[in-house]
Amino acid sequence: MQRRHFIHTLSTAVLSLQALTLARQAFAQVPPTTPPAAPHWRSNPFALGVASGEPRPDAVLLWTRLYPGAPAVGESASRLQLWAHFQEQSGLNAQQACVVHYDVFSDEALRHRVKQGQVRTHAGRGWSVHARVTGLEPNRPYWYRFRCGEAVSPVGRTRTAPALGAATAQMRIALTSCQHYEQGYYAAHAEIAQQSLDVVLFAGDYIYESSNPKYRIRPHTGGIPSTLDQYRERHALYKLDPDLQACHAAHPWVCTWDDHEVENDYAGVHNIRYQDAESFLQRRAAAYQAYFEHMPVWPGANDHGPHQRIHSHYQWGDLVDWWMLDCRQYRNAQPCRDPLKGGGRVVVACDERDDPRRTMLGSAQEQWFSDSFKAAKAHWRLVVQSTQISSTSLPTPVGRSIFTDGWDGYPVARQRLIHTLAQAPKGTVVTLGGDVHMNVAADLRQVPNDPHSPIVAAELVTTSITSRGMGESTLARIREHNPDIRHARSDERGYTLIDVQREHITATFRATPHPVQAGATLSTQAQYTLRHGEPGLARQ
Ligand code: FE
Ligand code: CA
Repeated sequence: MQRRHFIHTLSTAVLSLQALTLARQAFAQVPPTTPPAAPHWRSNPFALGVASGEPRPDAVLLWTRLYPGAPAVGESASRLQLWAHFQEQSGLNAQQACVVHYDVFSDEALRHRVKQGQVRTHAGRGWSVHARVTGLEPNRPYWYRFRCGEAVSPVGRTRTAPALGAATAQMRIALTSCQHYEQGYYAAHAEIAQQSLDVVLFAGDYIYESSNPKYRIRPHTGGIPSTLDQYRERHALYKLDPDLQACHAAHPWVCTWDDHEVENDYAGVHNIRYQDAESFLQRRAAAYQAYFEHMPVWPGANDHGPHQRIHSHYQWGDLVDWWMLDCRQYRNAQPCRDPLKGGGRVVVACDERDDPRRTMLGSAQEQWFSDSFKAAKAHWRLVVQSTQISSTSLPTPVGRSIFTDGWDGYPVARQRLIHTLAQAPKGTVVTLGGDVHMNVAADLRQVPNDPHSPIVAAELVTTSITSRGMGESTLARIREHNPDIRHARSDERGYTLIDVQREHITATFRATPHPVQAGATLSTQAQYTLRHGEPGLARQ
């Protein structure tokens, strides 16, 4: 505390009086009213790289954020210090908006510019830039870069989806989740960046708010974020990683979130400290805003504070319909919580969990998903959600124990989800998830773990990019007592490559031992195939 205070004071002294005065004036005025001004950068404003996302047949979303570094105080910097630093590095008054130009090219050599435009950004949105580029051709790659003043960003590559309903033979996906910065390096992203892919799907835990000193390889800067500025600095730290930047620059991403983007195990308006809903929602609003500012995810036209829609539906020609679900924002609290500490825990005999009113997705999202899923016509259906759907319960002398934060804590909602999935033709549905820090291949049956019950969908859960998994001895018991689980390994980190073709889907678990060392190489842990029209995964 003492030391942090000292650094804080020192850094304030280093910033010029003029910069601080201007920042103080700007404080009162967001969004800015004065005309945009031309910056003169002292340091690279594109230090966080570039990204793209949300590929549609005619459109794609481009992202960057002007970030000329931060004062040395990191997450303990006050907003005034951050703005003063920005002003010193940009030559702009933080009161003024700044114009960022983008160029889109049809060739890698950047000879043929097919689109250009500009986006105004300002301090109120953390100098983030989202450009939704439309009027593009379907099913092809594009290259893009940003310019601001004299500064030019790195080049990113993206691509559009095939035309709606167009005959499509293949789609290649990297499924990713859980990238705790402290617990390892992003070797998985380095490999994904080199893969020939259509899209990266991120299933949640993009940043972690919390630390575990036991598994720390490289430290977070600052403490546990709770304000907008602190969440912004946490996102910036992650985005400074060169492997993560390379992966964003190489492929369009489509993302959903889980709990750690805000706080471990939060559920709707409930958090683990039993904070009152109003103050927790302030924190959730700060975390959500920082998330949208840093991700290639369209923030929408309006700012809805703590209420932000992220669930969405995509199509890849006539081959794939896929959905990104939000398992955090609308859910009920975990059942049978400890009165001293909320969130998930292992319980036995918890009647509350069988209450049919309990929801994981919230009734509006659940209805939207059910309607959209039933209307889908594609050859395959992929359902991306944050966690594992198959059960990991264990027998005890007094009944089965379950972990309440996952779908096991919401079994009636899970039955409703499975009922919806059962509406699709047999052998055409795969659910994709993350969160549990292990690779899982499972059968989702109408009645979980009943070998006579029909298989409704195949489940693939990807291991974490870096975050530590559970002990192998517990996992061995989970496998033994949950026959629906065909494969589960928690000792390796990585990602899952999903190759979708007309006749089959092949999932390859790419992995490296924990913790991930800098420059680690990945190898294939296991490979599973689902044949179209035939329920059940087969190991290769
Ligand atoms: Fe995680
Ligand atoms: Ca999680």
